[in-house]
Amino acid sequence: MAMPTIKQVRAYTVRGGGADYHDQGAEHWIDNHIATPMARYPEYRASRQSFGINVLGTLVVEIEASDGTVGFSVTTGGELGCFIVEKHLARFLEGQCVTAIEKMWDQMYFATLYYGRKGIVINTISGVDLALWDLLAKVRREPVHALLGGPVRDELQFYATGARPDLAKDMGFIGGKLPLHHGPAEGEEGLRKNLAELATMRERVGPDFWLMLDCWMSLDLNYATRLAQGAHEHGLKWIEEALPPDDYWGYAALRRQVPPGMLVTTGEHEATRWGFRLLLEQGCCDIIQPDVGWCGGITELIKISALADAHGALVVPHGSSVYSYHFVITRHNSPFAEFLMMAPQADRVVPMFNPLLLDEPVPVNGRMKASVLDQPGFGVRLNPDCALHRPYTH
Ligand SMILES: [Mg+2]
Repeated sequence: MAMPTIKQVRAYTVRGGGADYHDQGAEHWIDNHIATPMARYPEYRASRQSFGINVLGTLVVEIEASDGTVGFSVTTGGELGCFIVEKHLARFLEGQCVTAIEKMWDQMYFATLYYGRKGIVINTISGVDLALWDLLAKVRREPVHALLGGPVRDELQFYATGARPDLAKDMGFIGGKLPLHHGPAEGEEGLRKNLAELATMRERVGPDFWLMLDCWMSLDLNYATRLAQGAHEHGLKWIEEALPPDDYWGYAALRRQVPPGMLVTTGEHEATRWGFRLLLEQGCCDIIQPDVGWCGGITELIKISALADAHGALVVPHGSSVYSYHFVITRHNSPFAEFLMMAPQADRVVPMFNPLLLDEPVPVNGRMKASVLDQPGFGVRLNPDCALHRPYTH
């Protein structure tokens, strides 16, 4: 079967929301005194934007095939990502057959090894990879999940991340994940406040609804252990990303020290099969949470997921909307998905990559039918009302 080749690769930035979900206006729950590793500095404690969490912006990658089909993706990476795509990665794509995804990934990864491996370079490779899967699936007129082996369930079920698990429960979600607000620099009073917030939320949602805490890399081992122990009586299901991602030893110790039954999760800022191998082999966590737009894309997530399955760990990808839904629906060791509540007060469901994507599906009553994902590619379109900027060409 003659397949088209890749004609041109283009990379764009866009500001405000989109894939850089931290790029929000004032008063949004996602930037309201969240505990972070920078919270040790009082001047950077109140807002994550104060230390530059939204500095990168969104990266949009478009890949056009010789038959005119265009695949695209969005992730974070902004202008730096555009430079890497246009000046370095495009050479490994243009002229290749649209099916040659494994080879293109391999060449992108090894050509950037001397300055890449994690962070912005892998974000960018992830964005290119997602655009390649979107393109191939569109050429084949199939949804991406069909290329991954097809759904193993009729529907996805979701937990909600945001400031209002009580409202998420009313909206049909299976659980709610709160951001932690106070880090170790805020001392015993901060720890008491963290536990009091959890206790209040437990009172509101009743005994059975899942409650989790997302600590966004902000704690140390002793604080995380004490938080977990204090949270046990409030039925905390898991403690997420308690420590900086390079502290594999700390995660392994934390997992041994949390109360029986409490899960340790991490991996949102981890990348590639080698990074996740460290987490899995050292027994760092029960659930890994790769972001498909940051960990190496779908091509790498397939390998990460297989490795996790063999280690008896669940894979519950971080946010990332349709890019993770098409994967989660095809894997038994991904039994549910995350939904980021991007409404400023976390009081209603809005599309996660709003306003950048059109046709972006959202959970209804905390669920999403597999058939909703039955569109070619990832099933989304770029919103023509968003002003794309192409800072580099090649
Ligand atoms: Mg998280």
